[in-house]
Amino acid sequence: MPSYQAPLRDFRFVMDEVLDYPRHYAQLPQAEEITPDVVSAILEEGARFTREVLLPLNQTGDEQGCRLEGGEVLTPAGFKEAYAQYVAGGWPSLSGDTAYHGQGLPTSLGMMLSEMVCSTNLAWGMYPGLSQGAADALRHHGSDEQKAQYLTKLNDGTWTGSMCLTEPQCGTDLGLIKTRARPDEAGGYLITGTKIFISAGEHDLAENIVHLVLAKLPDAPEGTKGISLFVVPKYLPDAEGEVGERNAVSCGALEHKMGIHGNATCVMNFDGARGYLVGKPHKGLACMFTMMNVARIGVGIQGLGLIEVSFQNALAYARDRLQMRALSGTREADKPADPIISHPDVRRMLLTQKAFAEGGRMLVLHAAQLADRVECATDAAEREAAETELGLLTPIVKAFLTEVGFEATNEGVQVFGGHGYIREWGMEQYVRDARITRLYEGTTGIQALDLLGRKVLMSQGEALKPFTKQIHKFCQAQEGDDAMAEFVTPLAKLNAEWGDLTMAVGMKAMQDREEVGAASVDYLMYAGYVTLAFFWARAAQAAHQSLAGNPDDAAFYRAKLDTARFYFQRLLPRTRAHAEMIRAGGETLMAMQAEDFGHGFDI
Ligand SMILES: Cc1cc2nc3c(=O)[nH]c(=O)nc-3n(C[C@H](O)[C@H](O)[C@H](O)COP(=O)(O)OP(=O)(O)OC[C@H]3O[C@@H](n4cnc5c(N)ncnc54)[C@H](O)[C@@H]3O)c2cc1C
Repeated sequence: MPSYQAPLRDFRFVMDEVLDYPRHYAQLPQAEEITPDVVSAILEEGARFTREVLLPLNQTGDEQGCRLEGGEVLTPAGFKEAYAQYVAGGWPSLSGDTAYHGQGLPTSLGMMLSEMVCSTNLAWGMYPGLSQGAADALRHHGSDEQKAQYLTKLNDGTWTGSMCLTEPQCGTDLGLIKTRARPDEAGGYLITGTKIFISAGEHDLAENIVHLVLAKLPDAPEGTKGISLFVVPKYLPDAEGEVGERNAVSCGALEHKMGIHGNATCVMNFDGARGYLVGKPHKGLACMFTMMNVARIGVGIQGLGLIEVSFQNALAYARDRLQMRALSGTREADKPADPIISHPDVRRMLLTQKAFAEGGRMLVLHAAQLADRVECATDAAEREAAETELGLLTPIVKAFLTEVGFEATNEGVQVFGGHGYIREWGMEQYVRDARITRLYEGTTGIQALDLLGRKVLMSQGEALKPFTKQIHKFCQAQEGDDAMAEFVTPLAKLNAEWGDLTMAVGMKAMQDREEVGAASVDYLMYAGYVTLAFFWARAAQAAHQSLAGNPDDAAFYRAKLDTARFYFQRLLPRTRAHAEMIRAGGETLMAMQAEDFGHGFDI
């Protein structure tokens, strides 16, 4: 069975030395409660819970999967008990609103816990993960009555949530939704339709499930402008607000799928189920976006969590496994061969994983600070700035971290050689589990359109400028520091090129809109590599500073510098290919007629 140690030392480095979390927390309204001791205690307890309770259920959950029996979904052995422990530990309420049974701690703390959950048991983590998204949507858009009824139960974990968008004919294009909502005499709505691929749509972990459902009202305008959001509980609340009458919503089937077997992916049938409108009629998509934005960051964290656990196990194996002698001569003469970590190519794979894990953690914890500021800033300008930057970084967190997450977990299998392909080692599960993260919550292609089209070009570059300006200022501040030149010189160059590439695509797009789609995924990957380079340069600066003080754990800081150098010299050059492909434009993509793609066969 794979092992896992929460990377608490790295969390501390990122929080204390790179992103100045002590100052960040001191500025939040919850400052008195989130002392460094409290933060450490939460992280340590989270590390214990995830390692002792969730990790042992990861492989068994994958093997057993979920079962549908008599309309009820049974999760793998131990999942229900683990969820009960999670609830008893107060984890669901961590960053919930205090008016509704929440503890009111910053969103960022929940994100740190989330990484550990994703490393140890991604499939299990999706059950509380979806509740979190549902709670956020209700907190922002629900009526007071809906908050009192549902938010309280979601926050204390007695009920869980689900997100019901997808239908057989409608995935990316939500304008195609067919599910209907018709007003009933009691002042609510009756929802009818079929949703597919609904994660945690039915299960045995909690006494009730709060579905947030997109549907169309009878007078709905065509397309995405006509979508409304409804809360549809599995059991209708009784007069006391507890579980009452069964609603007409049921799980018709479970999908059989590549990974995340422990999470129930359900076909959900709404047969005139009673539902209640959330927010205004026809404005449901905007409300659902609150949930989807939380979920998108959450999926990026899934990518990060999987890279970390795959790396830890690949590293342990590479230190232990003996094959061949090192090219430059014997390393461990007392053994029949040298450990495979001696070989440059194995090191390349391990360093790729390490650089993406530690770089991704800095990116996520930076996004987490922005999320705290969006939530708590009292100054409107500060909140707006945080919102803009978080909006820019969300598709990068989601799509870049899941793209490299899939690459890195694949490298994890490769380090194990043939043993990586064998189930018992657990490494192939990480690849299968990671594969979905590039798809759900908007595919990489859709995130890329969101970044380039919606965020950057639609704002005439205004959404990008404050971020590239931050990078520029950082580079300027390091001028004259010879030790930082190896990081700052390439970073400054790429940062300037980022602006040039944006301008070039923007100009082409004015002639032909297809140019946006043609450039978008390369643009997103380019943006991801430069963003991570910014954080790696900051990590290098922090490491230099700490090393100057002769710390006890100098090896930790030297490893940071080595990893930063690896990132800059061996991963960042990938921007060259992406820049060239962006510049190549869309002509070769669009020249061929759709019917000419097959070379002479009909399908
Ligand atoms: C295991 C699993 C769990 C899921 N959980 C949930 C859930 O809890 N709730 C929920 O509502 N849904 C859920 N989904 C659905 C998921 O979000 C969708 O599968 C995803 O959004 C893509 O939709 P689609 O599968 O219909 O693909 P399509 O939309 O048909 O896309 C097919 C391909 O075309 C591309 N494409 C489509 N439109 C464009 C465009 N305009 N420009 C460029 N490329 C485009 C896509 O990027 C993709 O590569 C889940 C799916 C799976 C497999």
